[in-house]
Amino acid sequence: MPEPIDTPVLIVGGGPVGLSLALDLAWRGNRSTLIEREPGTGVELLAKANGLHERTMETCRRWGLVHKVMEVGFPRDHAGDSVYCTSLMGHFIGRSVIPSANLRPTPPESPEKRQRCPQYEFDPLLARAVQERALTDLRYGVAFRDLEQDDHGVTAIAREVATGREYPLRAGYLIACDGAGSRVRRSIDVPFDGRMLDFSLSAMIRIRDLAEHHPIRDGERYILIGPDGAGKTSTFQILGAIFLVMTMGWLFVSERRQGTLKRLQAAPVTRGQILARVYVPSMMPVLLETLRISMIFNFTGVMIAEMYASRTGIGHLISNWGENFQLPQLFAGVILLAVVAIAFNEAVRFLEHRYSAWRT
Ligand SMILES: Cc1cc2nc3c(=O)[nH]c(=O)nc-3n(C[C@H](O)[C@H](O)[C@H](O)COP(=O)(O)OP(=O)(O)OC[C@H]3O[C@@H](n4cnc5c(N)ncnc54)[C@H](O)[C@@H]3O)c2cc1C
Repeated sequence: MPEPIDTPVLIVGGGPVGLSLALDLAWRGNRSTLIEREPGTGVELLAKANGLHERTMETCRRWGLVHKVMEVGFPRDHAGDSVYCTSLMGHFIGRSVIPSANLRPTPPESPEKRQRCPQYEFDPLLARAVQERALTDLRYGVAFRDLEQDDHGVTAIAREVATGREYPLRAGYLIACDGAGSRVRRSIDVPFDGRMLDFSLSAMIRIRDLAEHHPIRDGERYILIGPDGAGKTSTFQILGAIFLVMTMGWLFVSERRQGTLKRLQAAPVTRGQILARVYVPSMMPVLLETLRISMIFNFTGVMIAEMYASRTGIGHLISNWGENFQLPQLFAGVILLAVVAIAFNEAVRFLEHRYSAWRT
């Protein structure tokens, strides 16, 4: 291991909190080192925070950043309304009226008013301000791995993500700004209190002149309201299984219907007897086989849908437990699912084997 790099303050994580800390230390004339595991700031375009409240704007004012925030935010004359509808071309439900940045009054308690500034603009703006003050050793592509504390400070082990090379950093203070899943927090055994409320997916799409192509105007954000996706997903999957089983059953029966019926034409039997004695028994093994195979896909499909698109269900719970590092619950959920899936598979396989003699 090489000799440690000395720094008065080591900041782990270059999100808004880590960058603000580095900037504030620099503004007060203090040096620091910031390690960020990503190769840069805002490399990945993510839809995250979109507004800066008065208190944050007051801090930006101290750092001399207010005009830079106003330059990168949303157009200042655009209404700030939240619009509720079924889709951009669908039914309008309601609107929370919020004035544009130009018309919004500055509250009497503060010299600054709220600003719209998406995080994908704000974080790089902070990073540039940190670099301009030139008191922070900003190390991108470097991840925190572990730490040791003693009476005089902290020694952290950092890892270069691209090469895997590890080296120590020696600091008077180490400050964890590495987000909700903080590895620093976990390395000193600080538990995560509370639970994750929701799970969100971000997708950034640019559409030129979007506002001109739909009738529901003047929204800064559109909240699309529809029936809960969870029930629909499960229903779709179950219908999918039934469809597959019916199709396979029909194909199987129609393959052998002609020959069998010709042989039965001479015999004195009713249609009901043919159904009960010929169709059902000859279909049963293939129906069970199809049910078993289709349920494997449906099981996986429902779990994935619950993890990403639902607020209920075992898939949603497993996803939450994983996010919150609730390992006993996570493992219990996964094992329970595996047991149910294996039990179902084996039960149907047993029936399949039992009725295989009917496959004639
Ligand atoms: C969809 C969405 C919408 C949101 N909307 C709002 C909003 O409107 N208003 C609002 O105030 N907030 C909002 N938030 C929350 C806001 O984005 C977060 O509160 C904020 O990003 C937290 O900042 P942070 O610096 O603490 O953590 P993060 O932004 O998570 O930054 C942590 C940084 O640490 C780095 N890191 C992690 N582990 C390591 C490691 N081992 N070594 C080195 N670096 C590491 C990560 O790469 C990351 O860059 C939203 C979040 C989401 C996801």
